[in-house]
Amino acid sequence: MASHIVGYPRMGPKRELKFALESFWDKKSSSEDLEKVAADLRSSIWKQMADAGTKYIPSNTFSYYDQVLDTTAMLGAVPKRYGWNGGEIGFDTYFSMARGNATLPAMEMTKWFDTNYHYIVPELGPDTKFSYSSHKAVSEYKEAKGLGIETVPVLIGPVSYLLLSKPEKGVDKSFSLLSLLGDVLSVYKEVIAELKAAGAKWIQFDEPTLVLDLDDSKLQAFTTAYSELESSLSGLEVLIVSYFADVPAEAYKTLTGLKGISGFGFDLVRGTKTLDLIKSAGFPSGKYLFAGVVDGRNIWANDLASSVDTLNALEAIVGKDKLVVSTSCSLMHTAVDLVNETKLDSEIKSWLAFAAQKVLEVNALAKASAGQKDEAFFVANAAAQASRKSSPRVTNEEVQKAAAALKGSDHRRATNVSARLDAQQKKLNLPVLPTTTIGSFPQTMDLRRVRREYKANKISEEEYVKAIKEEISKVVKLQEELDIDVLVHGEPERNDMVEYFGEQLSGFAFTANGWVQSYGSRCVKPPIIYGDVSRPKAMTVFWSSMAQSMTSRPMKGMLTGPVTILNWSFVRNDQPRFETCYQIALAIKKEVEDLEAAGITVIQIDEAALREGLPLRKSEHAFYLDWAVHSFRITNCGVQDTTQIHTHMCYSNFNDIIHSIIDMDADVITIENSRSDEKLLSVFREGVKYGAGIGPGVYDIHSPRIPSTEEIADRINKMLAVLEKNILWVNPDCGLKTRKYAEVNPALTNMVSACKLLRKELASTNFTSFHLMHLDIIGHI
Ligand code: GLN
Ligand code: ZN
Repeated sequence: MASHIVGYPRMGPKRELKFALESFWDKKSSSEDLEKVAADLRSSIWKQMADAGTKYIPSNTFSYYDQVLDTTAMLGAVPKRYGWNGGEIGFDTYFSMARGNATLPAMEMTKWFDTNYHYIVPELGPDTKFSYSSHKAVSEYKEAKGLGIETVPVLIGPVSYLLLSKPEKGVDKSFSLLSLLGDVLSVYKEVIAELKAAGAKWIQFDEPTLVLDLDDSKLQAFTTAYSELESSLSGLEVLIVSYFADVPAEAYKTLTGLKGISGFGFDLVRGTKTLDLIKSAGFPSGKYLFAGVVDGRNIWANDLASSVDTLNALEAIVGKDKLVVSTSCSLMHTAVDLVNETKLDSEIKSWLAFAAQKVLEVNALAKASAGQKDEAFFVANAAAQASRKSSPRVTNEEVQKAAAALKGSDHRRATNVSARLDAQQKKLNLPVLPTTTIGSFPQTMDLRRVRREYKANKISEEEYVKAIKEEISKVVKLQEELDIDVLVHGEPERNDMVEYFGEQLSGFAFTANGWVQSYGSRCVKPPIIYGDVSRPKAMTVFWSSMAQSMTSRPMKGMLTGPVTILNWSFVRNDQPRFETCYQIALAIKKEVEDLEAAGITVIQIDEAALREGLPLRKSEHAFYLDWAVHSFRITNCGVQDTTQIHTHMCYSNFNDIIHSIIDMDADVITIENSRSDEKLLSVFREGVKYGAGIGPGVYDIHSPRIPSTEEIADRINKMLAVLEKNILWVNPDCGLKTRKYAEVNPALTNMVSACKLLRKELASTNFTSFHLMHLDIIGHI
């Protein structure tokens, strides 16, 4: 049996690419330096896969930023505003699209399916001119070949590319992106021809949209596209890969009916029904089945014995020489190499496999079926599986019971939101359009060093507390000077919003280098939830009370919500996700209650990742939203009316789940908004009533660009057109930790001026319609 890997992490085992990119962006190194780091990473990955015996090794899964943006570059579909004049797309144009530049914002970024990876959304329209403008796929293929390694060049499939795009500004929303298929295919044909000429034998098209709920016209596009490509592809073996869920029956029929395709790849981990489908619907004879049995989305060691069973069942259907062992999706969604984990104890380590180990698992499975079973490898794996099942570190009876008791019952605050808001306003006495920020302030080098040294026991706890206290005090003063209404402490003690909590909860393990790319050069290091979760002691009360003591303005307590902790962790696969989520909710509930008891009157519980946990298929949404929203409510159902609960989401595209968001019953929600053309506001234009406080972000924090006062005022005005002024808050899109003070100071200054400008306007134009409550506030301005 042969082996295949869908894709591999690009960042490097120690985030080498991240550092090379950031140094290049900061003009501290040249493009040649960056290219050298990238080439070294690619070659070591290819060699590693070849050494493990991998038959089908992917190329062109490397990217300087994002594989969808790479495809946009390949197609020459650069939005006009970036002023590109043709020719091979270089770093300048590429990174301007990705990150914006001094004068232009970046292109929109959105989540890649239900992962925590973000891709750059292509902007297309009837006037988009496609031309072959990045030869990356071919040059990477040749580069590997030069190293003596035959690879399978990977392209995002033409249909998925279009389905993941959006109509560019000024083009009607109803514009059919698929109408561009013919133009796009012309470029694909050129790429294919060049790959063939370079000697490629296989080509892989990633068509992950096949797992979505697609209507007939979209399914038809696959048939159209691949028959159009058929003659260009002749002479090549063609693999189409889907991942992240089952392929629905209709899509399966379309897919396996495509002409000129040699093999089909399926995710057999998340796609739990694939096996049944293949059994019942059949599999085209003579074609290869790439069986994704090794999980690309998690860090657990594969249960090899159970994979062998699956593979045997498939082999009986497709035949031995047509079955290929593979990963469920690209390994870019898991950590890179367990070898670099020196802090994990050997028991936990034995339960895990990162990308490098998964390559070995895939090959071990392939060899075993070819009669060359590595007995020692299989014995060690079986022992690890057994130890994980029976370890007392995994089970905490008390937690299990408490979480089980939550199921089936409801948890809500006693008073409705408008009455609560009144009670809170009496206590907080905020002006109309209150200003706030989302939590973090810039994380300077000094700050990172202090945390690092404290962790490494190089500085004492006393020195550490002193340094953090100084930082908090600086941030508090700055916000007072800026005249922000509801303050934050800036999160200087936090490296990461999930890791910080996970480190203080039991049932979590941490890696030293288990990084996963989130977007561009940014990586996250998800904790590993291996056991039942509980909170031994208060986690944030010390810092929040300290910060509150420095100001008379309200200081937000800052927590990460249970759904986000769950969705941004590597979650145990031995119990349902909702059970783990309820356990986390109970731990956060205790923290909320401790903060309230310590006199914190505004508590923000971030649920940045709530939406990304949404299952890909509509039929599964209601169940997920129900337990996710319930988990959030569990955390704060017990607080007093006067305690104001905020939540935050870094996501605008939730028009479809707005009712669940309302059902979270937070007092105030701040949401990402400005990077996606204020899509968010459309839901309110369409008449959804939102009675709680709401702060759609007034500027994009992902870009270094500083928004002007006029621009922000304009944004707030747009919001005022659809939202009542007495519920509107003014805040940036998200936390400021990745920005520099040189950007944050002017941006927040402009934000507050814009807000004051509007308060004045509101006071003069609309005075009589103000609630009594607001009259004395206006008096202060
Ligand atoms: N409170 C967090 C911060 O400001 C929220 C980050 C996020 O939403 N991703 O950094
Ligand atoms: Zn955010």
